[in-house]
Amino acid sequence: MRQRVWNFSAGPGVLPLPVLEEAQRDLLCLPGVGASVLEISHRSKHFDAIIQEAEANLRQLLNIPDHYHLLFLQGGASLQFAMVPMNLLGDGSADYIVTGSWGQKALQEAQRVGKGRVAWDGKHENFVRTPHADEYTIDPDARYVHFTSNETIQGVQFATEPSVDDRPLVCDMSSDFLSRPIDITRYALIYAGAQKNAGPAGVTIVIVREDLLSRVPETLPAMLNYRVQSEHRSLYNTPPVFAVYIVMLVTRWLLHTIGGLESMARVNREKASLLYRVIDESNGFYRGHAHPEHRSVMNITFRLPNEDLEKQFLQEAQAHGLHELKGHRSVGGCRASIYNAMPLEGVQALCDFMKAFAQRHG
Ligand SMILES: *Cc1c(COP(=O)(O)O)cnc(C)c1O
Repeated sequence: MRQRVWNFSAGPGVLPLPVLEEAQRDLLCLPGVGASVLEISHRSKHFDAIIQEAEANLRQLLNIPDHYHLLFLQGGASLQFAMVPMNLLGDGSADYIVTGSWGQKALQEAQRVGKGRVAWDGKHENFVRTPHADEYTIDPDARYVHFTSNETIQGVQFATEPSVDDRPLVCDMSSDFLSRPIDITRYALIYAGAQKNAGPAGVTIVIVREDLLSRVPETLPAMLNYRVQSEHRSLYNTPPVFAVYIVMLVTRWLLHTIGGLESMARVNREKASLLYRVIDESNGFYRGHAHPEHRSVMNITFRLPNEDLEKQFLQEAQAHGLHELKGHRSVGGCRASIYNAMPLEGVQALCDFMKAFAQRHG
């Protein structure tokens, strides 16, 4: 098969076609360098230009103030589940707002490192929503409050940040990073594995407010230490050079082709509302997982009347060039991940297919 399909994979997810084309064109030889990005020193001026542009693009897209440090790390968001408490918890306790599977994992890791307290947990309702501010209280001594802005598996997204009084807010933003503008100054730390919206697997972006670095214990191994990583500008050891290069291209695409995160958010909202409309107007044939006010703009989770129909739906969709629509094994059903790089056209193709399928089987 040489033809690209509509790829609704939850992660690693679809990348912008112009980015892949540019990477392909320059894979043998970066312009003016004479070798590929895979073959040059991470301390060369050529790679320095790449990592600096990636950082500058991210700073511009997200309007990141100077007193926030930006790190390119390895180990995925899953390593951040542990690094956040290792760096920030000390002998204190942190609050976790748990709205899905990833938040649960983050909490488990924190509890391996030290004290993690559940501020709110949506498990008893099967993770269908985020909490209202009056449903949880924040420990006034919490070292930080952690939440997951978009729960990729359940398709549950915070519309705005939870209110945490004056406590430092920490966010796993892996699956909606760069999907919409955010006010960075509301956060103490943001982390995001790149492979959902920002690039390929292998690099994790961490944005951390400077004052937090003073809390980092001296005893932490260097590779796990935010302060060491920051002092070495993410070059303490060899960084994932190819992944950083692709992040540079993706952020360049967001800035210059899309026109920034306001424009990106507008397209993302339009894509999601097309799909949710098909679900809502299907007379119950499709049932969305998340409550309407809490549903994700990135991961659209839904069920069909029974598992046989779900199986048939996935098979027929695949035959129509609509791939990777199976829900996560822990929740079942279907999931359409429509990250930044999924064009409107792909979503329209899925909507047409869903309407026709419901008509045949409803
Ligand atoms: C994918 C994902 C993770 C796990 O990312 P890894 O890079 O595989 O560790 C964590 N949190 C969220 C919200 C995710 O979507």
